[in-house]
Amino acid sequence: MVDRVWNFSPGPGALPLPVLERVRDELLEYPGAGASILEISHRSPAFERVIEEAEANLRDLLHIPSTYRVLFLQGGASLQFSMVPMNLLLESAGYVVTGSWGKKNAHAEAIHRGGARTVRDGGETGYTEVPTSLDGLADGLDYLHVTSNETIEGVEFPLGFEPADGPPLVCDASSDLLSRPIPVERYGLLYAGAQKNAGPAGLTIVVLRADLLERIPRGVPTMLDYRTYVEHRSLYNTPPVFAIYVLMLVTRWLRDEIGGLDAMAERNREKASLLYDEIDGSNGFYRGHAAETGRSRMNVTFRLPDEAMEKEFVARAADEGMVELAGHRSVGGIRASIYNAVPVEAVRALRSFMERFRTATP
Ligand code: PMP
Repeated sequence: MVDRVWNFSPGPGALPLPVLERVRDELLEYPGAGASILEISHRSPAFERVIEEAEANLRDLLHIPSTYRVLFLQGGASLQFSMVPMNLLLESAGYVVTGSWGKKNAHAEAIHRGGARTVRDGGETGYTEVPTSLDGLADGLDYLHVTSNETIEGVEFPLGFEPADGPPLVCDASSDLLSRPIPVERYGLLYAGAQKNAGPAGLTIVVLRADLLERIPRGVPTMLDYRTYVEHRSLYNTPPVFAIYVLMLVTRWLRDEIGGLDAMAERNREKASLLYDEIDGSNGFYRGHAAETGRSRMNVTFRLPDEAMEKEFVARAADEGMVELAGHRSVGGIRASIYNAVPVEAVRALRSFMERFRTATP
């Protein structure tokens, strides 16, 4: 018997149960391979089909145009903090910082290499908001970098924030890729660590407009050069085979069982509203971190009247089988991560707990 909790982990996060069951069922013998997916060559016909389907499913779900390349890398989203400027920063790049990941990103290689600067930083107000428009911010730059969802603060750009033209938009979409439809054609490059909405840790998805490959300077080390992954279809060396296999199953689940990204977005909206409605209706007992226009649908962050009560909240929720609700160690408070695979039922249970906790507190 399995005894699974309601998992609100910020990442690696919950995976769809039917996907885990399928992994379990196929673990000893991948169909047609006579061995586990963990034991077969990345050059085997069975894995060829896996990586092809994973890419095809992503293209299908996100409507990725044929002029874009889909790459599977390792090194986490954090390696992209370095790879993006190594490949695309020729003279100048701009970083819009709406939270801790964007700040870390902008201060990683991008800024150390020179030429990169922060064009917006919401740090003074504690990262509660996103800019209302990005128009004009990228003028004259090689690219403009944004983080579509800030996982720690729970601040997300609303749908359709992408400028229609101008220099390439580069986006760290680690914690909201595949949670809603996006206009891929408005991006130069999108990247995401898989471990929130797409699969297990160890895999980074990169979606890149092909013409940008032409500007990559000479001298970028082979494993850090996007062209290596394009030329070898992400099989220059051994890719994270298992993670790509799970991505294939997760994207299949999104398409066949959820019904695509419009349907997923609707579910995610419903889940987020359940919690924000309770926060808004609590007469200030729960205080949401993000301003209404920048509220994340993925990471719902809020405070209670004091820290002792927050500790109590986390402990009592865990007693009821709802785990990983403590906010990031750098900001404290409560964070409920409600990624794609967290069912509405789990969020309803949390909402009911929030109501009961509030009314039981004198
Ligand atoms: N960017 C964002 C928005 C994230 O949420 C995270 C991880 N939580 C990272 C980057 C870093 O990802 P990784 O651990 O895969 O390097």
